[in-house]
Amino acid sequence: MHEFNLIEQYFKWDNAPETVALSVGDDAAILNIPVNQQLVTSVDTLISGVHFPEDTSAHAIGHKALAVNLSDLAAMGAIPKWFTLALTLPEINQSWLEAFSSGLKSIADEHNCFLIGGDTTRGPLSITIQVMGLVESGKALLRGGAKVGDKIYVTGTLGDAAFGLRNKDNDFCKQRLDYPSPRLLESGFIKAFASSCLDISDGLLQDLSHILKASSVGAELDLSLLPLSNELRRINNVEAINYALSGGDDYELLFTIPSDKQALFHQKLSKSGGVYPYIGTITQEKETIMDEKGHKLISKGYNHFYG
Ligand code: ADP
Ligand code: MG
Repeated sequence: MHEFNLIEQYFKWDNAPETVALSVGDDAAILNIPVNQQLVTSVDTLISGVHFPEDTSAHAIGHKALAVNLSDLAAMGAIPKWFTLALTLPEINQSWLEAFSSGLKSIADEHNCFLIGGDTTRGPLSITIQVMGLVESGKALLRGGAKVGDKIYVTGTLGDAAFGLRNKDNDFCKQRLDYPSPRLLESGFIKAFASSCLDISDGLLQDLSHILKASSVGAELDLSLLPLSNELRRINNVEAINYALSGGDDYELLFTIPSDKQALFHQKLSKSGGVYPYIGTITQEKETIMDEKGHKLISKGYNHFYG
């Protein structure tokens, strides 16, 4: 199979949206950007054996490669529109490509994100996706807006993916690792209230520290409030909390809500039926994370967090 046929068969999609003036097949794609909106873009590479275990199914790889990029748009409060795909393959394996493109297409369709171009090369398996989305001008959610007294929330349970990486027989956690759900609906909801937001890809402590740095603040976490799945509740509690604090790959959103917006946030949230666990408060002491007992929390792999 020639590279050109491969692109035609797997990556040239029908039914391009109106925003796509030109897609796969020419030297570059052309997009129509609506007025009063800003283009938000992010790129992530997944390398076999580094970002996913080598035995991960091709379908899951297709899903995850786009999901982690969509998660970045969710973190910005942007709506996904388009993406490009740079694919490096060791060989042309049709059944692998079939499964990969089907995993990719189904999450792309779910979030109305259209493949507009890419590049195909030979080498060790790696997938780079650049995603593009739109946000109303000036309305993006940034890392730098957290203020002392803001409450800290997450969109879902933490530590599951990291547990799944080490316990592949745990179906629920393995699914959380292989098929992360970008929190785009949640992003649309919290956008009207949040002072800062990011997605948790490297673990709660590490990612929270990015908000703290960008906002020049600290945080106090109440470890008893960390949301744990039933699967993690079954293991030793200290171990479960360590997974929740330092395990990566969950792709939940971490966000802060200013005190004057909390009442309305909770009112709208309970009407929508959503539950976003409150886990702590923004404090004054710059870039310092404490627990509710006054211990300093430090991310150091996942055995020793108390420094
Ligand atoms: P060029 O030689 O001009 O770089 P390519 O042969 O790399 O062109 O690509 C031809 C067309 O196919 C371009 O429109 C490119 O965007 C698209 N394309 C190449 N690889 C992929 C891919 N993996 N997924 C989607 N589109 C691709
Ligand atoms: Mg090219």
